[in-house]
Amino acid sequence: MKKEMDKTEAKERIERFFQRDDFKPDELKKVIRIAMKFKIKLGSKRKLFCKKCLNKLAGRLSISKTHKTIECASCGFRNKVRIA
Ligand SMILES: [Zn+2]
Repeated sequence: MKKEMDKTEAKERIERFFQRDDFKPDELKKVIRIAMKFKIKLGSKRKLFCKKCLNKLAGRLSISKTHKTIECASCGFRNKVRIA
């Protein structure tokens, strides 16, 4: 029988995933699904990928008073991040 993943294991898997230097959108999709299933908040990790195409975010950065905008190098989508 297949062992079910528990929340601790899911968290570890997510942590490990975001420590990688590179990842594919398909792999990220799986990780997001795991996070949702276990209701794990991605928090600051959300800044690491493009909201639209799910590629690793490494693009032009511009900062305003309230937001940081990172333009996705893959699809050009502007990812807005509120500055706390
Ligand atoms: Zn993108």
